[in-house]
Amino acid sequence: MKKIIIAIDGLSGCGKSTTAKSVAQALKYAYIDSGAMYRAVTLHFLNQHTNLRNIEQIRQSLERVNIDFHVNEADGTQRIFLNGQDVEDEIRGMEVTESVSEVSKIKEVRQALVAKQRRLGADKGVVMDGRDIGTVVFPHAELKVFMSAKLEVRAERRLNELKERGQSADLAQIRDNLAKRDHMDSTRAESPLVKAIDAVEIDTSDLRFEEQVTKILELAGQKMN
Ligand code: C5P
Repeated sequence: MKKIIIAIDGLSGCGKSTTAKSVAQALKYAYIDSGAMYRAVTLHFLNQHTNLRNIEQIRQSLERVNIDFHVNEADGTQRIFLNGQDVEDEIRGMEVTESVSEVSKIKEVRQALVAKQRRLGADKGVVMDGRDIGTVVFPHAELKVFMSAKLEVRAERRLNELKERGQSADLAQIRDNLAKRDHMDSTRAESPLVKAIDAVEIDTSDLRFEEQVTKILELAGQKMN
C-alpha cells in the first residue's frame, strides 16, 4: 500500500487534532500538530518579550527556537518541547491562545515553520493538521480534508477539553477567542485559512467523533490503493 500525506485543515476548535491523531494511530502514520509549533513559538516570544513589530528582534528570537516532538512509544502520545523543555500544557493555556494568531501571521515565523513541517513530512506516511497544510505546506498531499463546525459546538468542545486538562476556562471567553482567531487566520495576508479546491469538507457539528475518523479513514483507503 502506498504511503500518503493527509492534510487536515479547518477552523479553530473543530476537533482537527484529536481526529488527526486517531487517523494517524489507525494507519500507523506519524502525526504532526502544526498548531502546536505556532503555539510553541508564541510562548518563546512571550518569554523573550519579543516585540512583534520589530522584525530584527523576531529574526533573532527565531534563531533561538528549537522545537521537537517527543513520542511516548508505549501509548503513542506526544508532547512538544521548546528548547529542551516540555511545554505541551503551557502552550494550551489562554495566554498563548490569545496571542498565537498575532504571531502566526508573521511571514518569517511561517517560513521557518513551513520549512520544518515539510522536513517532517518528507517521508510521507504522515497526518498533519493546521490551517495551510493542504494549500501551502503540502499542496500535493494525496488527501486533503477541511473540517468545520458551528461556533457554539466548537466552544463547548474546547471548554470540555480544557476542563479535562485541569485548566480553568470560561465559555464566553473561549467563544470570543475562537471567533477572533477564525477571523484573523482567514483574513491574514500570509497563507490565510482557506479550503483548498481539492479538499473534502467535513462539518463535524452533528457527527460523533468515531464517525469523522471513519470517514477520513475511508477516504484515505481510496487514495492508498
Ligand atoms: O490548531 P491550533 O488551534 O492549535 O492552532 C493555533 C493557531 O496557530 C491558529 O489559530 C493559527 O493562528 C495558527 N496556525 C497557523 N497555521 C497552521 C496551524 C496553526 O497559522 N498550519
